[in-house]
Amino acid sequence: MDRLKDLWAQVSGNLKPRIDPYHYKSYISLIKPRSLNEDIVTLEVPNQRYVDWLGSTYLEQIAGEFASVSGQALEVVLVARNNGGGKTQISPRNPYNPKYTFESFVVGRGNSTAYAAAQAIVERPGQIYNPLFIYAGVGLGKTHLLHAIGHESFQSRRELRTAYVTSEEFTNEFIEAIRYDRSSDLRAKYRNLDILLIDDLQFLAGKEATLEELFHTFNTLYNNSKQIVFTSDRPPAEIKLDERLVTRFEWGLVIDIQPPDIETRIAIIQAKAENEGIRLPDEVVDLIAQRVRSNIRTIEGAILRLSAFSAISEQPISAKMARDVLSNILGRETPRVSIGTIQRVVCDHFEVALGELLSKTRNASVVFPRQVAMYLARNLTDAKLHEIGLQFGGRDHSTVIHSYNKIRDVVENDPDTAALVSKLERIASAGGD
Ligand code: ADP
Ligand code: MG
Repeated sequence: MDRLKDLWAQVSGNLKPRIDPYHYKSYISLIKPRSLNEDIVTLEVPNQRYVDWLGSTYLEQIAGEFASVSGQALEVVLVARNNGGGKTQISPRNPYNPKYTFESFVVGRGNSTAYAAAQAIVERPGQIYNPLFIYAGVGLGKTHLLHAIGHESFQSRRELRTAYVTSEEFTNEFIEAIRYDRSSDLRAKYRNLDILLIDDLQFLAGKEATLEELFHTFNTLYNNSKQIVFTSDRPPAEIKLDERLVTRFEWGLVIDIQPPDIETRIAIIQAKAENEGIRLPDEVVDLIAQRVRSNIRTIEGAILRLSAFSAISEQPISAKMARDVLSNILGRETPRVSIGTIQRVVCDHFEVALGELLSKTRNASVVFPRQVAMYLARNLTDAKLHEIGLQFGGRDHSTVIHSYNKIRDVVENDPDTAALVSKLERIASAGGD
C-alpha cells in the first residue's frame, strides 16, 4: 500500500475520536488523498465549498496530525475535485513569529514566573495552570511569550492543536460569523483546540456579545481540560469583563510581568546586540539600560537605530554617537520613579502620614507600609541601598535589605499581597496618579 494512503488512514483515524462526529462524517470522511511530493500532501475534496470550510476549520489540525504520524513537517494543500482554477487552501507552516521563542526570551526577576508558567504549559497543557492569565505593561513580552508557547508546540509537539488570536481578531471573526451566519464554523475553529492563546484581552472590555461567545468557548475548552492563556495590560479585576469570566480566572493562575530591573535590561541589550551581529561598547549598553526602563520594544528600537547609523556613517558605535542618535528616544522615556512618589503612593493607599512612614515607630500598621515602600524603592529605582535608607528617615542599608526580603517572601507566597504590591508598583510607575 502506498505511503500516502497509509498516512491518511492514520491521520483520519486519529482525527475521528477528536472531532465532532457529524463533521467527521460529512467532511473528513469525504477527503481523498491525492498526492505526496517531497513534503507536500495534496488532499482532494468534493468542491470549493469544502475547500473553504475545511481550510478555515480543520486544516491546521489535519496538518498537525500529518506531522505527528509522519514525523515530518508536511504542508497540506486542499483542492476541489474538479478545480478549474479554484482557490486552494494551504496549511500554514508555522504561524508563529520565529523570533519569539523561549530561547530568545531573556529571563530576569520580573518575568521569570510568567516564563516558567508558559513553558510548563507546553509540557502539560490544560493540566497545571488553567487558565493562565499574564498581565503587563506595553513592550514587556506578553505577545512574545504567547508566540513562544505556540512556536514550541509547533516545533516539538505537533500533535497539539494551537491557535493564537488577538482579542480584536476574535471580535472581528465573531462579527463576521454572525453576519454570514457561520457561527458554527467559529465554534469548530476555537472549541477543538488543545491550546488557545488570546492576546490583549483588555480590548474586549464592554463588548458583551463577544465576551459571551468567549465565555462559552472558554467553558468548552476548560471542561475538556484544554489550555487557555490570556494576556492583558492590566489584571482581570480591572477590565470590564463578564463577572463569570473573572471568577474563572481565579481557578487558574494570574501573574504579572514587571518591568525589567537594570541587570535584566543589560542582559536583554547584550542579547539583542548579539542577535543583530553588532558590537556595543559597555558604556553604550549602560547608557541604554539606564535610560530605557519600561519598554523592551524601545530598547530594540534604540539598538536598531544605532546599528543603522553606524552602518551609514561607517563609524563604530560610541557613547557619543549613542547620545546623539538616541537623544530623542532617551529623552522621551518616562522619567524615573522617585522615592518620593513611591512614598506618597504607599501613604495614600495605607492611609499613613508621611511623617509616620519615615519615623522610628514600630507600630504594625506603619511597619508593613514602610517595608512595602522600601521594597518598591529597590525595585523601581536605581537608588543604592544606603540612599534608600537615607530617604527613609536615615535607616541603614541592612534595614532596607531586611524589608526588601521580607516583602519579597510575602509576595512570593501570598497572591493577595502580590496583587496589591504590583498595583502600587503600577500606580507609582505611572507617576502616582
Ligand atoms: P507586549 O506584547 O507585552 O507589548 P512584546 O511581546 O511585543 O510586548 O515585546 C516587545 C518586544 O520586546 C518584542 O520584540 C519582544 O521580542 C521583546 N521582548 C520582550 N520581553 C523580552 C525578553 N524578556 N527577552 C527578550 N526580548 C523581549
Ligand atoms: Mg503584545
